[in-house]
Amino acid sequence: MTRKKIAIIGSGIAGLTTAAKLHPVHDIHVFEKNAVIGGHTHTEHVKINEQSFAINTGFIVYNDWVYKNFNELMEPLNLKRIPTEMSFSIKDDVTGLEYNGHNLDTLFAQRRNLLSPSFYKMIKDILKFNRESIEDYNANRIPDSLSLAEYFKQKKLGKMFITKYIVPMGAAIWSSGEADMLNFPALFFIRFFKNHGLLSVKDRPQWYTLDGGSEAYLEPLTAPFKDKITTSAQIKSVARHDDYVEIIMENNDCLPFDEVVFACHSDQALSLLAKPSPEEQAILGAIPYTSNEVILHTDETLLPKRKKAWAAWNYHLGADKTAPASLTYNMNLLQSIENAPVTFCVTLNRTHLINPDKIIGRYQYDHPVFGADSENAQARYHEIGNKNRTHYCGAYWFNGFHEDGVNSALRVVTDIALADSTHQTLKQPEMSEA
Ligand SMILES: Cc1cc2nc3c(=O)[nH]c(=O)nc-3n(C[C@H](O)[C@H](O)[C@H](O)COP(=O)(O)OP(=O)(O)OC[C@H]3O[C@@H](n4cnc5c(N)ncnc54)[C@H](O)[C@@H]3O)c2cc1C
Repeated sequence: MTRKKIAIIGSGIAGLTTAAKLHPVHDIHVFEKNAVIGGHTHTEHVKINEQSFAINTGFIVYNDWVYKNFNELMEPLNLKRIPTEMSFSIKDDVTGLEYNGHNLDTLFAQRRNLLSPSFYKMIKDILKFNRESIEDYNANRIPDSLSLAEYFKQKKLGKMFITKYIVPMGAAIWSSGEADMLNFPALFFIRFFKNHGLLSVKDRPQWYTLDGGSEAYLEPLTAPFKDKITTSAQIKSVARHDDYVEIIMENNDCLPFDEVVFACHSDQALSLLAKPSPEEQAILGAIPYTSNEVILHTDETLLPKRKKAWAAWNYHLGADKTAPASLTYNMNLLQSIENAPVTFCVTLNRTHLINPDKIIGRYQYDHPVFGADSENAQARYHEIGNKNRTHYCGAYWFNGFHEDGVNSALRVVTDIALADSTHQTLKQPEMSEA
């Protein structure tokens, strides 16, 4: 077995999974540009009247169906998980429409919808989409090239279903603009909805949050290699040579490694490469990221007017269809916080409507944008991964979620293990279908 010196750039779930798996057999070093580790795993500790609340502003929920490898990673850490509610509401600023799909009572939170033919047509279309998309998926009838907009047209699904249900739900899940959602590959979208039980009214997974906030896993996961992490790391570029890799810092220090793992986003990796290959430019460039402004606050006016319509995820529909996704997570519902004197809200991309006096924190998180070229780019991973002493991981290689971050890291770990005899020492990970 050759003990290699491996640089890992980024300390989100992808970088930390890579580090946790490789550190027993290799000499790893994690570089994180922020002052704290965790990337999209971030928890804010808020004090109100002497009571302390741990509120998540990035990664919040996971389930038992899909997050197999994440659950396995968490198992030895002895953390407590709390079952959570995953309801979804709409608040339309233009038409005043409000509904919450949690149950029949909340679906008709706005009683006038009991008499609305278009509302019933939307419900009928939801049931049709749930039924027929699974049938089409199972029968391999959805071509790779088909966009979501084209699929809806083929299926003759109504405007209200598209604009007031499925597009906002997808936009909320991927923090993607409504216009971008219509360009999503239909196959990618339907496979994700099927795997997460989103095409069924009853047969759905139980979702969980971590007690103490998502950050609860960071300390125990990194404890065995915490002296191998540099925060506030200022990397200027990464140069690959025949027999080593150089991490060049802003102060011009050059740190030699045998291999490098880019556990940051596709665009961030590309910008660090001193000489990206044409394949790296094409593949990483085909999965761009978009920025989301995220605010933690207690302004309940961001939630639907009717309390019955308050869901765990509350999507805001506005007049501008080209605007980025805008939604408010009700963190009291999501994190089962029952004793707070306020409603903790996390709102994406609607800062101008939040009472500044009620703002607790401001954050910026970037999210991958999946378009026509992204699936093809993901499929070309092996043209750049494990080539030229370079590896890539991050949630963007699959669906953009925590399990995807873990799976992408396990693929890197497998590649490194297979390259020498260490595969005897490292357990071969089994990839889950996220
Ligand atoms: C608001 C929000 C809520 C979400 N909620 C959920 C959820 O409930 N469930 C779920 O499964 N997913 C959720 N996600 C998706 C989330 O993005 C993924 O689950 C996952 O956390 C992404 O992990 P990652 O390791 O790929 O990237 P990140 O967590 O973004 O980690 C990348 C890291 O690389 C670092 N980095 C970048 N450039 C450099 C550099 N030059 N040098 C050193 N370090 C660098 C960054 O600072 C960062 O720490 C959510 C995302 C957002 C934005």
